[in-house]
Amino acid sequence: MATTFTYDVVIIGAGPAGMCAGMYAGRSMLKTVVLERGFPGGELLNTELIEDYPGFEHVLGHELAQKFADHAAKFGAEFKTGVIVESVRKLGDGTFETRTESGDLYVSPSVIITAGGTPVKLGVPGELEYAGKGVSYCAICDGAFFREQTIAVIGGGDAAVEESDFLTRYASKVYLIHRRHELRASKILQERLLSNPKIEVIWDTVVDRVEGDEQGLVRSLKLRDVNTGDERDLAVTGMFVFIGFRPNTGIIADHVAHDDMGYLVTDANMQTSMRGLFAAGDVRSQLTRQVTTAVGDATTAAIAAEKYLKALEDGNPAERLAGTGGYAV
Ligand SMILES: Cc1cc2nc3c(=O)[nH]c(=O)nc-3n(C[C@H](O)[C@H](O)[C@H](O)COP(=O)(O)OP(=O)(O)OC[C@H]3O[C@@H](n4cnc5c(N)ncnc54)[C@H](O)[C@@H]3O)c2cc1C
Repeated sequence: MATTFTYDVVIIGAGPAGMCAGMYAGRSMLKTVVLERGFPGGELLNTELIEDYPGFEHVLGHELAQKFADHAAKFGAEFKTGVIVESVRKLGDGTFETRTESGDLYVSPSVIITAGGTPVKLGVPGELEYAGKGVSYCAICDGAFFREQTIAVIGGGDAAVEESDFLTRYASKVYLIHRRHELRASKILQERLLSNPKIEVIWDTVVDRVEGDEQGLVRSLKLRDVNTGDERDLAVTGMFVFIGFRPNTGIIADHVAHDDMGYLVTDANMQTSMRGLFAAGDVRSQLTRQVTTAVGDATTAAIAAEKYLKALEDGNPAERLAGTGGYAV
């Protein structure tokens, strides 16, 4: 039976941003729930090693995730896992109604969206057909299935370059296929990639089709040179796609300001164009998306939400947030 719950703050998504927001909101003695469709961790669970989180020269993604979750829970944030949020709507009285797939309702005066993003698909024939049968979007999850095999990685940004390097732990050969003649990844990652003898970069090339065998497993990619139009087959048993993410903003029922790519636009306090609705982490429009930026955003969002709630209690939220460059309307 569907149930209605009441909280001060509802946080949607338990990645680094959601867990950090939960920690701060809990520590501020706000009744806080973090709703997560999977397990706490978000993209940390898809990342083997983190080498750029201050204080940790290197830490395993799942270990950092566990530390974040434990820390948030210690300060009183409640985690509900396996809960898929379907929609968030602002009601006429200013409260938010967060509805889950099972029909439960979470009513709260403020919501922090930390729902991250979903991997962008290549959109070529065979990609979805062979997903899980050679096509993957997660190196840490699937890399071990490709021991001593020849595989391809698609993309040119940090994720593609980093994961190509990671995948050479398993694969005997990794082709990095990039549609341009230059990588977007940071220099240090590029250097690591180019000095790895197991990796070969195929420049100016796109994948037109994924082809498989009678057992339904990937066997080759049909490649096309974007300059000459020449086609060729590349024999691989796996294709890992790292060409970006789409922000998970479809759950917001009302119009909220976003950028051209669909990422939520916030003010300096992480408040969206809708009063009381905050956004943090990968779902937010910003220069870069890292664990550090996610937790930085989340810290601000949770503290701003706390001030917002206090102002609501005092009867004047516009006054409290005045001068912050916000979208208070
Ligand atoms: C392969 C890879 C390697 C990376 N390596 C690094 C690195 O080395 N260092 C670094 O700093 N950063 C790295 N990053 C980036 C970093 O992981 C992200 O910036 C960070 O995880 C963003 O945190 P987030 O909380 O905003 O979003 P996410 O981590 O994406 O978490 C969002 C959470 O929201 C949940 N969610 C979404 N929609 C719903 C819904 N409707 N209902 C319920 N729950 C929902 C998701 O299940 C997910 O758990 C890497 C990313 C990838 C993909």
